[in-house]
Amino acid sequence: ATTFPAPDSTRIFTVANQKGGVGKTTTAVNIAAALAAQGLKVLVIDIDPQGNASTALGIEHSTEVNSIYDVLIEDLPVFEAVAQCPDIETLTCVPATIDLAGAEIELVSLVAREQRLVRALRAYLKEREDAGERVDYVIIDCPPSLGLLTVNAFVAANEVLIPIQCEYYALEGLSQLLKNIQLIQKHLNPALEISTILLTMFDGRTNLSRQVADDVRAHFPNQVLEVTIPRSVRISEAPSYGQTVITYEPSSSGALSYREAAEEIAHRGVADHG
Ligand code: ADP
Ligand code: MG
Repeated sequence: ATTFPAPDSTRIFTVANQKGGVGKTTTAVNIAAALAAQGLKVLVIDIDPQGNASTALGIEHSTEVNSIYDVLIEDLPVFEAVAQCPDIETLTCVPATIDLAGAEIELVSLVAREQRLVRALRAYLKEREDAGERVDYVIIDCPPSLGLLTVNAFVAANEVLIPIQCEYYALEGLSQLLKNIQLIQKHLNPALEISTILLTMFDGRTNLSRQVADDVRAHFPNQVLEVTIPRSVRISEAPSYGQTVITYEPSSSGALSYREAAEEIAHRGVADHG
Protein backbone atom coordinates (compact mmCIF):
# COMPACT_ATOMS: atom_id res chain seq x y z
CA ALA A 1 0.00 0.00 0.00
CA THR A 2 1.19 3.50 -0.79
CA THR A 3 1.70 5.96 2.01
CA PHE A 4 0.49 9.47 1.35
CA PRO A 5 2.73 12.33 2.48
CA ALA A 6 1.61 14.20 5.58
CA PRO A 7 1.09 17.96 5.16
CA ASP A 8 3.43 20.47 6.88
CA SER A 9 0.49 21.90 8.76
CA THR A 10 -3.17 21.00 9.18
CA ARG A 11 -5.11 21.34 5.93
CA ILE A 12 -8.71 22.39 6.46
CA PHE A 13 -11.15 21.68 3.62
CA THR A 14 -14.73 22.76 3.21
CA VAL A 15 -16.67 20.55 0.79
CA ALA A 16 -19.22 22.87 -0.74
CA ASN A 17 -21.71 23.25 -3.57
CA GLN A 18 -25.11 24.76 -2.95
CA LYS A 19 -26.71 22.13 -5.15
CA GLY A 20 -27.96 19.08 -3.30
CA GLY A 21 -27.18 15.56 -4.44
CA VAL A 22 -23.92 16.34 -6.25
CA GLY A 23 -21.78 14.12 -4.02
CA LYS A 24 -20.60 16.52 -1.29
CA THR A 25 -21.14 14.13 1.60
CA THR A 26 -19.96 11.09 -0.34
CA THR A 27 -16.80 12.96 -1.29
CA ALA A 28 -16.18 14.32 2.23
CA VAL A 29 -16.41 10.94 3.96
CA ASN A 30 -14.60 8.89 1.32
CA ILE A 31 -11.68 11.31 0.91
CA ALA A 32 -11.47 11.45 4.72
CA ALA A 33 -11.51 7.66 5.02
CA ALA A 34 -8.96 7.20 2.22
CA LEU A 35 -6.56 9.66 3.88
CA ALA A 36 -7.07 8.14 7.33
CA ALA A 37 -6.62 4.59 6.02
CA GLN A 38 -3.04 5.67 5.21
CA GLY A 39 -2.49 6.55 8.84
CA LEU A 40 -3.08 10.29 8.51
CA LYS A 41 -5.09 11.87 11.33
CA VAL A 42 -8.37 13.13 9.93
CA LEU A 43 -11.29 14.95 11.53
CA VAL A 44 -14.62 15.20 9.71
CA ILE A 45 -16.95 17.97 10.83
CA ASP A 46 -20.55 17.36 9.85
CA ILE A 47 -22.25 20.74 9.58
CA ASP A 48 -25.34 19.59 7.64
CA PRO A 49 -28.47 19.12 9.81
CA GLN A 50 -29.24 15.98 7.79
CA GLY A 51 -26.25 14.32 9.45
CA ASN A 52 -25.50 12.18 6.39
CA ALA A 53 -21.73 12.30 6.93
CA SER A 54 -22.21 11.14 10.53
CA THR A 55 -24.36 8.24 9.31
CA ALA A 56 -21.86 7.25 6.63
CA LEU A 57 -19.05 7.17 9.20
CA GLY A 58 -21.04 5.02 11.61
CA ILE A 59 -21.28 7.78 14.22
CA GLU A 60 -24.31 8.08 16.49
CA HIS A 61 -26.10 11.37 15.94
CA SER A 62 -29.30 11.25 17.96
CA THR A 63 -30.07 14.50 19.80
CA GLU A 64 -28.57 13.09 23.04
CA VAL A 65 -24.98 13.07 21.78
CA ASN A 66 -22.67 16.08 21.84
CA SER A 67 -22.58 17.57 18.36
CA ILE A 68 -21.53 20.50 16.23
CA TYR A 69 -24.73 22.24 17.35
CA ASP A 70 -23.41 22.38 20.93
CA VAL A 71 -20.07 23.69 19.66
CA LEU A 72 -21.63 26.44 17.53
CA ILE A 73 -24.45 27.52 19.81
CA GLU A 74 -23.51 26.42 23.34
CA ASP A 75 -19.72 27.00 23.24
CA LEU A 76 -18.96 23.33 23.90
CA PRO A 77 -15.25 22.65 23.25
CA VAL A 78 -14.75 20.61 20.06
CA PHE A 79 -12.85 18.05 22.12
CA GLU A 80 -16.06 17.08 23.90
CA ALA A 81 -17.97 16.53 20.68
CA VAL A 82 -15.38 14.46 18.79
CA ALA A 83 -16.32 10.82 18.26
CA GLN A 84 -14.12 7.96 17.09
CA CYS A 85 -15.11 6.23 13.84
CA PRO A 86 -15.48 2.48 14.33
CA ASP A 87 -13.64 1.32 11.19
CA ILE A 88 -10.51 3.45 10.99
CA GLU A 89 -8.37 4.28 14.00
CA THR A 90 -7.15 7.71 12.85
CA LEU A 91 -10.57 8.92 11.70
CA THR A 92 -12.72 11.05 13.99
CA CYS A 93 -15.94 13.00 13.49
CA VAL A 94 -17.94 15.77 15.10
CA PRO A 95 -21.49 14.65 14.30
CA ALA A 96 -24.47 16.79 13.31
CA THR A 97 -27.83 16.28 14.99
CA ILE A 98 -31.20 17.50 13.79
CA ASP A 99 -30.96 20.41 16.32
CA LEU A 100 -28.67 21.99 13.80
CA ALA A 101 -31.65 22.79 11.57
CA GLY A 102 -32.49 25.62 13.97
CA ALA A 103 -28.91 26.87 14.25
CA GLU A 104 -29.10 28.84 11.02
CA ILE A 105 -31.60 31.14 12.79
CA GLU A 106 -30.05 30.94 16.27
CA LEU A 107 -26.66 31.99 14.94
CA VAL A 108 -28.04 35.29 13.63
CA SER A 109 -28.24 36.86 17.09
CA LEU A 110 -24.95 35.50 18.44
CA VAL A 111 -21.73 37.51 18.80
CA ALA A 112 -19.17 36.76 16.06
CA ARG A 113 -21.72 34.58 14.32
CA GLU A 114 -19.49 33.93 11.30
CA GLN A 115 -16.48 32.99 13.47
CA ARG A 116 -18.03 30.45 15.83
CA LEU A 117 -16.57 27.42 14.09
CA VAL A 118 -13.12 28.82 13.34
CA ARG A 119 -12.58 29.83 16.96
CA ALA A 120 -13.65 26.49 18.36
CA LEU A 121 -11.69 24.55 15.75
CA ARG A 122 -8.47 26.55 16.21
CA ALA A 123 -8.54 25.96 19.96
CA TYR A 124 -8.98 22.23 19.40
CA LEU A 125 -6.24 21.99 16.76
CA LYS A 126 -3.79 23.83 19.03
CA GLU A 127 -4.64 21.53 21.91
CA ARG A 128 -3.99 18.46 19.72
CA GLU A 129 -0.76 19.91 18.39
CA ASP A 130 0.46 20.69 21.92
CA ALA A 131 -0.34 17.09 22.87
CA GLY A 132 1.87 15.88 20.01
CA GLU A 133 -1.19 14.61 18.12
CA ARG A 134 -1.40 17.01 15.22
CA VAL A 135 -4.47 16.61 13.03
CA ASP A 136 -3.41 16.32 9.38
CA TYR A 137 -6.75 17.00 7.70
CA VAL A 138 -10.04 18.56 8.70
CA ILE A 139 -12.88 18.00 6.24
CA ILE A 140 -16.11 19.93 6.73
CA ASP A 141 -19.28 18.63 5.05
CA CYS A 142 -21.66 21.49 4.24
CA PRO A 143 -25.42 21.69 3.75
CA PRO A 144 -26.73 22.53 0.25
CA SER A 145 -27.18 26.24 0.97
CA LEU A 146 -25.07 29.34 1.37
CA GLY A 147 -26.39 30.30 4.82
CA LEU A 148 -24.54 30.95 8.08
CA LEU A 149 -23.55 27.31 8.59
CA THR A 150 -21.75 27.27 5.25
CA VAL A 151 -20.28 30.73 5.97
CA ASN A 152 -18.87 29.34 9.24
CA ALA A 153 -17.30 26.48 7.28
CA PHE A 154 -15.75 28.88 4.72
CA VAL A 155 -14.32 31.04 7.49
CA ALA A 156 -12.82 28.01 9.26
CA ALA A 157 -11.21 26.53 6.13
CA ASN A 158 -8.09 27.20 4.04
CA GLU A 159 -9.30 25.25 1.04
CA VAL A 160 -12.59 24.64 -0.75
CA LEU A 161 -13.24 21.30 -2.43
CA ILE A 162 -16.11 21.53 -4.93
CA PRO A 163 -17.64 18.27 -6.15
CA ILE A 164 -19.31 18.71 -9.52
CA GLN A 165 -21.75 16.18 -10.87
CA CYS A 166 -21.18 15.47 -14.55
CA GLU A 167 -24.67 16.42 -15.77
CA TYR A 168 -26.23 19.08 -17.92
CA TYR A 169 -26.85 21.71 -15.23
CA ALA A 170 -23.46 21.25 -13.55
CA LEU A 171 -22.10 24.71 -14.25
CA GLU A 172 -25.37 26.45 -13.56
CA GLY A 173 -25.34 27.83 -10.05
CA LEU A 174 -21.58 27.50 -9.85
CA SER A 175 -21.18 31.22 -10.50
CA GLN A 176 -23.27 31.95 -7.40
CA LEU A 177 -20.98 29.73 -5.34
CA LEU A 178 -17.89 31.45 -6.76
CA LYS A 179 -19.35 34.89 -6.03
CA ASN A 180 -20.04 33.91 -2.44
CA ILE A 181 -16.54 32.55 -2.00
CA GLN A 182 -15.16 35.85 -3.35
CA LEU A 183 -17.21 37.73 -0.75
CA ILE A 184 -15.85 35.49 2.00
CA GLN A 185 -12.30 36.06 0.75
CA LYS A 186 -12.83 39.81 0.70
CA HIS A 187 -14.53 40.25 4.05
CA LEU A 188 -13.97 37.25 6.29
CA ASN A 189 -11.18 34.90 5.22
CA PRO A 190 -8.57 36.18 2.73
CA ALA A 191 -6.63 32.89 3.04
CA LEU A 192 -9.45 30.81 1.54
CA GLU A 193 -8.73 29.25 -1.84
CA ILE A 194 -10.62 26.97 -4.20
CA SER A 195 -7.91 24.35 -4.37
CA THR A 196 -9.74 21.29 -5.57
CA ILE A 197 -12.57 20.32 -7.91
CA LEU A 198 -13.69 16.71 -8.23
CA LEU A 199 -15.89 15.40 -11.02
CA THR A 200 -18.37 12.93 -9.57
CA MET A 201 -20.88 10.41 -10.93
CA PHE A 202 -18.94 10.37 -14.16
CA ASP A 203 -20.10 8.06 -16.93
CA GLY A 204 -17.42 7.86 -19.60
CA ARG A 205 -19.82 6.13 -22.01
CA THR A 206 -21.96 9.24 -22.44
CA ASN A 207 -20.99 12.25 -24.52
CA LEU A 208 -22.69 14.46 -21.97
CA SER A 209 -20.48 13.35 -19.08
CA ARG A 210 -17.36 13.84 -21.19
CA GLN A 211 -18.57 17.22 -22.47
CA VAL A 212 -19.27 18.50 -18.94
CA ALA A 213 -15.90 17.19 -17.74
CA ASP A 214 -14.11 18.99 -20.60
CA ASP A 215 -15.98 22.23 -19.87
CA VAL A 216 -15.10 22.14 -16.18
CA ARG A 217 -11.46 21.36 -16.93
CA ALA A 218 -11.30 24.25 -19.39
CA HIS A 219 -12.66 26.65 -16.74
CA PHE A 220 -10.52 25.36 -13.86
CA PRO A 221 -7.37 23.81 -15.36
CA ASN A 222 -5.41 23.88 -12.09
CA GLN A 223 -8.12 22.77 -9.70
CA VAL A 224 -9.76 19.75 -11.31
CA LEU A 225 -8.31 16.44 -10.13
CA GLU A 226 -7.23 14.07 -12.88
CA VAL A 227 -9.22 11.18 -11.52
CA THR A 228 -13.01 11.23 -11.90
CA ILE A 229 -15.42 9.34 -9.64
CA PRO A 230 -17.58 6.88 -11.57
CA ARG A 231 -21.20 6.15 -10.84
CA SER A 232 -21.09 3.09 -8.62
CA VAL A 233 -23.70 1.13 -6.73
CA ARG A 234 -21.10 0.23 -4.07
CA ILE A 235 -20.56 3.93 -3.33
CA SER A 236 -24.28 4.56 -2.86
CA GLU A 237 -24.97 1.48 -0.72
CA ALA A 238 -22.01 1.82 1.68
CA PRO A 239 -23.73 4.45 3.92
CA SER A 240 -26.60 2.08 4.73
CA TYR A 241 -23.98 -0.10 6.45
CA GLY A 242 -22.56 2.88 8.33
CA GLN A 243 -19.43 2.65 6.22
CA THR A 244 -17.51 4.42 3.50
CA VAL A 245 -16.80 2.52 0.32
CA ILE A 246 -13.12 2.53 1.36
CA THR A 247 -13.82 -0.05 4.08
CA TYR A 248 -17.08 -1.51 2.71
CA GLU A 249 -15.69 -2.65 -0.66
CA PRO A 250 -11.99 -1.70 -0.79
CA SER A 251 -11.36 -3.17 -4.25
CA SER A 252 -14.40 -1.63 -5.98
CA SER A 253 -13.95 1.00 -8.68
CA GLY A 254 -15.52 3.58 -6.34
CA ALA A 255 -13.01 2.87 -3.56
CA LEU A 256 -10.11 2.89 -6.01
CA SER A 257 -11.11 6.22 -7.51
CA TYR A 258 -11.66 7.92 -4.15
CA ARG A 259 -8.30 6.57 -2.96
CA GLU A 260 -6.68 8.02 -6.08
CA ALA A 261 -8.40 11.37 -5.51
CA ALA A 262 -7.15 11.43 -1.91
CA GLU A 263 -3.64 10.62 -3.09
CA GLU A 264 -3.72 13.47 -5.62
CA ILE A 265 -4.90 15.84 -2.91
CA ALA A 266 -2.15 14.70 -0.52
CA HIS A 267 0.59 15.12 -3.15
CA ARG A 268 -0.68 18.45 -4.47
CA GLY A 269 -0.73 19.94 -0.99
CA VAL A 270 2.88 19.02 -0.41
CA ALA A 271 3.89 20.34 -3.85
CA ASP A 272 2.11 23.66 -3.14
CA HIS A 273 4.05 24.19 0.05
CA GLY A 274 7.37 23.02 -1.32
P1 ADP B 1 -24.82 15.86 -1.41
O1 ADP B 1 -24.11 15.72 -0.10
O2 ADP B 1 -24.17 16.83 -2.34
O3 ADP B 1 -26.27 16.15 -1.24
P2 ADP B 1 -24.51 12.99 -1.61
O4 ADP B 1 -23.07 12.72 -1.42
O5 ADP B 1 -25.42 12.75 -0.46
O6 ADP B 1 -24.72 14.45 -2.18
O7 ADP B 1 -24.97 12.14 -2.89
C1 ADP B 1 -26.33 12.16 -3.33
C2 ADP B 1 -26.78 10.74 -3.65
O8 ADP B 1 -26.01 10.21 -4.70
C3 ADP B 1 -26.61 9.79 -2.48
O9 ADP B 1 -27.68 8.88 -2.48
C4 ADP B 1 -25.30 9.08 -2.79
O10 ADP B 1 -25.24 7.79 -2.22
C5 ADP B 1 -25.33 9.02 -4.29
N1 ADP B 1 -23.99 9.06 -4.88
C6 ADP B 1 -22.99 9.95 -4.64
N2 ADP B 1 -21.91 9.69 -5.37
C7 ADP B 1 -22.21 8.59 -6.11
C8 ADP B 1 -21.49 7.80 -7.08
N3 ADP B 1 -20.25 8.11 -7.46
N4 ADP B 1 -22.13 6.75 -7.63
C9 ADP B 1 -23.39 6.42 -7.27
N5 ADP B 1 -24.12 7.11 -6.38
C10 ADP B 1 -23.54 8.18 -5.79
MG1 MG C 1 -24.76 16.08 1.86
